[in-house]
Amino acid sequence: MTPVRVRIAPSPTGEPHVGTAYTALFNVLLARRLGGEMILRIEDTDQTRSTPDSEQKVMEALRWLGLHWSEGPDKGGPHAPYRQSERRHIYPQYVDKLLHDGHAFKCFCTRERLDVMREEQRRRGEQPKYDGLCLHLTPEEVSAKEAEGIPHVVRMKVPETGECTFEDGVYGTVSIPWASVDMQVLMKADGMPTYHMANVVDDHLMKITHVARGEEWMSSVPKHLLLYRYLGFEPPQFMHLPLLRNPDRTKLSKRRNPTSISYFSSVGYLPEALLNLMGLGFVSIAEGDEVMTLDELAAAFDPGSMAKGGAVFDLQKLDYLNGRWLREKLDEDGFRARLLDWAMMNNRLAGGLELARTRIARLGDLPDLVSFLFRSDLNLTRADFEATKNGAEDSAVVLKAILAMVDTLPEWSREAIEEEVRRIADGMGRKLRVVIPPIFVAMSGSTRSLPLFDSMALLGRSIVRQRLKMALAVLPDAP
Ligand code: GLU
Repeated sequence: MTPVRVRIAPSPTGEPHVGTAYTALFNVLLARRLGGEMILRIEDTDQTRSTPDSEQKVMEALRWLGLHWSEGPDKGGPHAPYRQSERRHIYPQYVDKLLHDGHAFKCFCTRERLDVMREEQRRRGEQPKYDGLCLHLTPEEVSAKEAEGIPHVVRMKVPETGECTFEDGVYGTVSIPWASVDMQVLMKADGMPTYHMANVVDDHLMKITHVARGEEWMSSVPKHLLLYRYLGFEPPQFMHLPLLRNPDRTKLSKRRNPTSISYFSSVGYLPEALLNLMGLGFVSIAEGDEVMTLDELAAAFDPGSMAKGGAVFDLQKLDYLNGRWLREKLDEDGFRARLLDWAMMNNRLAGGLELARTRIARLGDLPDLVSFLFRSDLNLTRADFEATKNGAEDSAVVLKAILAMVDTLPEWSREAIEEEVRRIADGMGRKLRVVIPPIFVAMSGSTRSLPLFDSMALLGRSIVRQRLKMALAVLPDAP
């Protein structure tokens, strides 16, 4: 029998999302259930958005959760390298084969033409997709354009009529009309493959037997199945996982809720509780004890019983489970060890003490000086901002501008934060000291606190983001 191999294939952009943990947990449980291996592959073909920092963070987050892989960029393995940017020499031969066999074509359309085409399609109420103009170029026309040095991408050919029908391990039989499938770009003008091309080639070469990933990839299956067929590869079993949702069924979004794994670790959730909550979506258990370890989840794992409407990511339930894990599942030593690990996370205990030393008069001042670094919630009100010179309305304007930087700053360090806040103040035509008070309040709950930029560095990106969101939630809408 073919050995079972599953994978988690994160794109290292931004902060690791709870959705990545959810997919990884499913894959780990599946591998355990079927007696297989799980591998980690980094999908960094989008070179404009991928960063080494984000890759590092994904691996740290998965390790923190206790979700292990047996092959990956950090571990090596028989199918190394496991980072797609290091595999770029592998893909062109497959693209060439598709071109040679007439399953793909070179497309010379400019961005401007494609924009106009899509705009017109939208106006006609159609789903935007490539209209096939370059599909009809003769070999002579293609050679002439290449000789002229006109850049091109490679697109795949797609049937025009009928449906693509496949068996999904979670959703059962799924049919998607070919008319809704775009002639996907497989190779970009710079020679980098797109996600679709690299993903199919790598899943084949890495001998992946089960592809379990978020539901948002379901609509890509027809393209992928076609590529498997064109390349003469055996397709894996696909399994799509219902999206994580808020209890009111809305999509989990960073705009409204914390979604980064590091937020949950920073405010003191145990990885066991986070896995426990997510894992409850993959098991059918009788009423009774919902507090389950990874081993217990693996024993009860039943992908067929998943609620297709979406798994609920209920923060109240997470609090409940986390409390039970802290109180009942850890012994005294374990509790103390976790508490210390948590306090020292991101250097905030040592860093906080160091900063407090610059302000301290009596040792007993310490809790007041550093407590904001550790609190789950500052319980801010509008009055806290009204008390600043800026007032509530201007505080909102400042904090909104600062929130925008949280996701874009490539490196989260004291220096980088300070430089960026200065730049934002300059852009607003303000002095730094004028924009600082509301940021102080949003971060620490007080106008006098430890040095601001050091504190923001210690709090970490995900807590800073959440505190800014909580502050903006009590303030009037900024323009
Ligand atoms: N790189 C994709 C992601 O980050 C992986 C999708 C897949 O598993 O095929 O979601």
